[in-house]
Amino acid sequence: MNIDSIQNGVVIDHIAAGCGMKLFNLLGLDGLDASVAIIKNVQSKKMGKKDIIKIDADIALNLDVIGYVDPDATVNIIKNGILTEKLSIDMPETLVNVIKCKNPRCITSCEQELDQIFKLSDRDNKEYRCIYCETKAK
Ligand code: ZN
Repeated sequence: MNIDSIQNGVVIDHIAAGCGMKLFNLLGLDGLDASVAIIKNVQSKKMGKKDIIKIDADIALNLDVIGYVDPDATVNIIKNGILTEKLSIDMPETLVNVIKCKNPRCITSCEQELDQIFKLSDRDNKEYRCIYCETKAK
């Protein structure tokens, strides 16, 4: 695909360098039946280096996931080759089934049907904690 000429799709821009792959994985883009490009270490005047993800498909992304990985990222929606919408991203207060609790004693480790829920506990440090056992998410 020509990554510069997406007709209908989504471009996630200004991702902190090194976070592109993590975002790709958490968004589940691996399983997407569409062209997806991760461009790493793009030179940016504003940020030094950044990552960009381009998705050549008109899909709805889980903005909570983007806000968790990098709240400073920008999401551009492209329709018919034209940038139609810029979504601003914020750190979500709650994350549901995005990340898993790493504590082996957590109730979610044995009760597999429980939702994995994390709450934002410290906005300045981007810190999330499991609502069941209070373990910090990494
Ligand atoms: Zn837990």
